[in-house]
Amino acid sequence: MTDSPVISTVDYDAPGRQFGRLQIPRSTNESGWSNLVVPLVSIANGRGPTVLVTGGVHGDEPEGQVAALNLARETRPEDVRGRLIIIPCLSPEASRAYTRLWPSGANLNRSFPGSPAGTPDEVLADYVTRVLFPLAAAVCDIHSGGRSMLCLPWSEIHLVENRGQRAAMWNAMLAWNTDYHFVYIDIAGGGLLVGEAERQGKIVVGTELGGGGHVTAETHGLAARGLRNFLRHAGVLAGKAETRAALGLPEPVILKALDRDDYLLAPESGLFETRVALGQTIEAGQAVGRLHFVEAPDRVPVDIIAQTSGIVCSVRALAPTQQGDCVMVIGQVCRREELV
Ligand SMILES: [Zn+2]
Repeated sequence: MTDSPVISTVDYDAPGRQFGRLQIPRSTNESGWSNLVVPLVSIANGRGPTVLVTGGVHGDEPEGQVAALNLARETRPEDVRGRLIIIPCLSPEASRAYTRLWPSGANLNRSFPGSPAGTPDEVLADYVTRVLFPLAAAVCDIHSGGRSMLCLPWSEIHLVENRGQRAAMWNAMLAWNTDYHFVYIDIAGGGLLVGEAERQGKIVVGTELGGGGHVTAETHGLAARGLRNFLRHAGVLAGKAETRAALGLPEPVILKALDRDDYLLAPESGLFETRVALGQTIEAGQAVGRLHFVEAPDRVPVDIIAQTSGIVCSVRALAPTQQGDCVMVIGQVCRREELV
């Protein structure tokens, strides 16, 4: 096994709180001898599980970055049982550019498991895969709809094969206490961070919080509360996890989108108009959106037809749309008993 060229300034075995960084060697047009720097925080205190929290895999998703930065600053070692490893932003240059992808065009969430001899995104993915995941019992990767999509805020899981792992992930998903939870498949390629963590048997939870290019105070609050409750549930933050019932909230709605037809793709390029709202119940065959053609005012817009019935989970937020872009996701209400 080739050693990773990544340098970590954090001693993972040391107690207390360390603000450090990962340095990924690279060479750019502006600097022949450069390091890509990724901030990293470790907070360790006594016995307990190790949990890894990641934000900013995609640069246009500030929700997780803000929640993780606040968590890192506000969590004292005495609040921790075990070890909390926080990477508030895995893609700092994409965050600065407010773009989903890295300036190189890399999508870090397609770079896993990575390679120690690859491009900088692959080298970083390889370090997370071979050094950080093996330390962790649970992983939480915080995403949102970014600039391109608006999502009902939710926490989410894949239906992993191992039933024990699946049940643990289901319970950890619920600990976010969002109104909605989401069970999904990958329709746009592999190489996801969560996929590799799942292959290593970890308890893995993701989120899609809002999006559409801006963040409300409500969504920031939800991210802060959800993340902390997840960490209490995982046993790494002191205190008992709160349930929705204890908070006086109704049962959450659990949505599954396990059929490719639940993900509606633009049949051709155009200007997208949604005709439904997030959370709305729709029927298969319903026209849920239209594509307009600004260069051809006489052309009748093309209807986008729902292929499945259910609840609108996610709607495209960027109106200019290319053929094949996802414009909507439909989820069906489901119960734990049918999936776990
Ligand atoms: Zn994302």
